[in-house]
Amino acid sequence: MLSKAMTGRTVHNRIVRGRAWYLDVHATTPVAEEVLAAMWPWFSERFGNPASAGHAWGWEARGALEGARDQLAGLLGIEPGELVFTSGATEANHLALMGVLEAAGAGSRLVCQPTEHASVLEVARRWGRQGGRVTLLPVDGDGMVPPEALEDALREPAALVSVMAANNEIGTLQPLPELGALCRAAGVPLHADGAQVPGRVPLGQVVPHVALLSLSAHKAYGPKGVGLLMARRRSPRVRLEPQVPGGGQEGRRRGGTVPVPLVVGLAAALARAEASVAAWSERARDAAAGWRRVVDDALPDVRWLGHAERRLPGHLAFVLPDRTATDMMRACPELGFSSGAACQSGAPSHVLLALGFTAAEAGRMVRLGWGPHLDEKDPGHVAGVLERGLGGRSLA
Ligand code: PMP
Repeated sequence: MLSKAMTGRTVHNRIVRGRAWYLDVHATTPVAEEVLAAMWPWFSERFGNPASAGHAWGWEARGALEGARDQLAGLLGIEPGELVFTSGATEANHLALMGVLEAAGAGSRLVCQPTEHASVLEVARRWGRQGGRVTLLPVDGDGMVPPEALEDALREPAALVSVMAANNEIGTLQPLPELGALCRAAGVPLHADGAQVPGRVPLGQVVPHVALLSLSAHKAYGPKGVGLLMARRRSPRVRLEPQVPGGGQEGRRRGGTVPVPLVVGLAAALARAEASVAAWSERARDAAAGWRRVVDDALPDVRWLGHAERRLPGHLAFVLPDRTATDMMRACPELGFSSGAACQSGAPSHVLLALGFTAAEAGRMVRLGWGPHLDEKDPGHVAGVLERGLGGRSLA
């Protein structure tokens, strides 16, 4: 944990002066200035309710909302009507799972896997408690679902398969092309949690393989509190039971006044990320390769997590051999990194437990990542801090 002297203003001042580096980009990212600029007018100057059909304030807001929807549909290569705006990937995952399972009927079967985000696993548990059937696929040592395991599971009828595109904790990319082909052959929709995808993997490498996709803005330099669910209307046609009943918003699939500034920010952030994905991935890989060398030199017994190649560019996760993540945080107070997912802070990572690590080993897990808020010199500075902080000396 950060010492008291490094909280609040102090951290902010150090970051501004370039002496502290935020590397917890898989937890969240700052809103990019151009994204903030796009959102700004929609908070107060242009504040209408997009569902107000009787006056210009409402029409203007509706125009912004539908403009953002069209822009996002263009990025994803789908129809605008195939998007439902939500409060983030958590809600999009909930709508995807419960929406499809409830529409399929009581007792219908969900197939997923144990390294999913908690927002998928908790819904799966709830479905099980309600009498639904849930099959958890096995994963290999890198957290990857073997396609043969899905092939076996699909010998029995299922209403939905949910496998994340990219794991937030260990960085592994799932083999969506293979899994998608199996689902298509079986006539079962495939949902992917794509919260970590924008700016790291081109959307075109994910969208064609899935029937449903959850995305979030705040992992890609957009605002917190907004995301979307893509649900295809054709081949296959996905039927969704609304989970937030209310007004007729979002084609009756999600009630509630749509937050226009946030949706404008979501579209701006994802457009920016998609336009930069090739350049960002290259810089991310270079930075991570440099940091990895430093860690390997300092800690020969380090255990790297996730798949070596099929992983999010710039994402590094490892288990320290001889000290806890907290020890490392104390030794490198000018680096902002984490020990796994922010939303699970405090508990041993279910992802590491699913990979066969002990709770103590999970406490020695470190995750850090590159993001485009870092400038060209920053990776070198970070490497210097890592070298000093790890120092090759056992703290145990
Ligand atoms: N899925 C994954 C893979 C994530 O990393 C996160 C964020 N930790 C979420 C879902 C939840 O996203 P949101 O914060 O937008 O609800």
